[in-house]
Amino acid sequence: MIKKNWHLRDKEKYCSCKKDACLRFLKCPSCGAIVLQCDKTGIIFNNPNDTSYVQPDNYVCHRCERHPIDHFGGVEIYEIEALGFSKEQIK
Ligand SMILES: [Zn+2]
Ligand SMILES: [Zn+2]
Repeated sequence: MIKKNWHLRDKEKYCSCKKDACLRFLKCPSCGAIVLQCDKTGIIFNNPNDTSYVQPDNYVCHRCERHPIDHFGGVEIYEIEALGFSKEQIK
């Protein structure tokens, strides 16, 4: 089975919730937009490579505006690498 539950390892880069590797990669089922969500606080980074984030309340996909975050699914490792992250940066 292919693992699809990837988290960003170096949390210091973005999130201050103090939980280890809290940021999970999620993908929109319609448009394929990949975002990061904190497991603890729920905040969402629309661009995994950017430090700005939004609150999860009333969130819909920033690209297609069709899906709330709980419709988002797992991401393949090659898709994460395509965003510029290495295997060492995720777990
Ligand atoms: Zn966090
Ligand atoms: Zn979308």
